[in-house]
Amino acid sequence: MHVLLVEDDDELGTRIGRGLTQAGFVVERAANGDDGLELGLQPQIDIIVLDLGLPGMPGLEVLRQLRARGVTTPVLVLTARGTWVDKVSGLNEGADDYLTKPFHLPELIARLNALRRRSWGRASNLLEFQDLSVNLATGEVLLANAPLELTALELRMLKYFMSRVRHVISQNELVEHLYSVDGMRESNTIEVYISRLRRKIGADKIKTLRGLGYRFG
Ligand code: CA
Repeated sequence: MHVLLVEDDDELGTRIGRGLTQAGFVVERAANGDDGLELGLQPQIDIIVLDLGLPGMPGLEVLRQLRARGVTTPVLVLTARGTWVDKVSGLNEGADDYLTKPFHLPELIARLNALRRRSWGRASNLLEFQDLSVNLATGEVLLANAPLELTALELRMLKYFMSRVRHVISQNELVEHLYSVDGMRESNTIEVYISRLRRKIGADKIKTLRGLGYRFG
């Protein structure tokens, strides 16, 4: 997940950059509008955090030009306190969200994750891994092009795994994700559900990492 951070305040930029890196994002930085625009055009950028008060090209102009060139990458704009006109202009120019300075990093991270989810839903309704695909809109699962029957819980689990390919997922994290489902409140039942899922999708797709949790893919 590549985040482009366009922020001219070096101290703030460093702090945000560090926080985002710790949260698992890959951060690219630009300290002025022109560099921001150039990097923002790169296809590997998944999301853009754009300060509006920038030296050189103003943030709003960066946003306008990105959108004019057909770039649909989600953009969260950073505005100074009290500049409501900036927020309105930012949203009018195609920003997806905004945050007023000063803000707490966890809030920025939460909003970026929400934007990522939204744009991911727009971009594709299909999760794919090797011979396995899940249609998020219909819940249909295909294994080697043949429909696969999963229980609601298995489907939920599979979607979670497939949206985090090669991530280490702890047992607690899984329990938390599946918590609202009845009968899934104890982590020792997770192993049972995992083995059922493995039997259906192929045992080698979910690895158990002793003491750490699981890894899909
Ligand atoms: Ca600034």
